[in-house]
Amino acid sequence: MRKILVVEDEKKIAEVIKAYLEREGFLVTTTESGTEALKLAESIEPDLVVLDLMLPDLSGEEVCATLRRRSDVPIIMVTARSAEEERIKGLDIGADDYMAKPFSPRELVARIKSILRRTHSDKEFLAEKISFNNDKLVIDVSRHEVRVDEKIVSLTPHEFTLLLTLSRHPGRVYSRYELINRVQGYDYEGYERTIDAHIKNLRQKIEDQPKKPQYIKTVFGVGYRFEDH
Ligand code: CA
Repeated sequence: MRKILVVEDEKKIAEVIKAYLEREGFLVTTTESGTEALKLAESIEPDLVVLDLMLPDLSGEEVCATLRRRSDVPIIMVTARSAEEERIKGLDIGADDYMAKPFSPRELVARIKSILRRTHSDKEFLAEKISFNNDKLVIDVSRHEVRVDEKIVSLTPHEFTLLLTLSRHPGRVYSRYELINRVQGYDYEGYERTIDAHIKNLRQKIEDQPKKPQYIKTVFGVGYRFEDH
């Protein structure tokens, strides 16, 4: 049974989340406190943490940062603050996904399942080939080749790294800052918007309709994510 730790001080919300998750067969532990959450994370070793940003004791950011130092447990941040800066900050401290309140519990369940699918199939990420959309898009890692409809598409090394980074974690939102650092391979101090140009070129090459991309989605105010098909 997959264990989910829900850290949320609004009792009603916590109850609704718990009910939905239990119906899906998850084992759910809830707490209203950040301090308690850190203790619980050690004792129950959850498969995923749903974390509210505004808690009465520690902030969600502090809890997230501490959890991240200790483990790779996936974290979904739930937040009433919707300012872009907060979202980016959260991603930089290691949250895997975001949901702004009010949200649909069904959507939360869907995101949890999606994150668990990808964290529990790490072997797949190491696979030599990753394919999507019934093999319409194939990324051959060892050959550094990408094929769309069985035709080889020529990508620059930056475009290839970018596509590989995004596609290895479908659904995970990457900030431009994270992406540019992955692409450059070091702590890049330049212009993060450079990433937009790479994305644009990549879409031209792999998407049927670059202006209505089905794989590489823009997450407004934050960055990009890859959608699995
Ligand atoms: Ca709260």
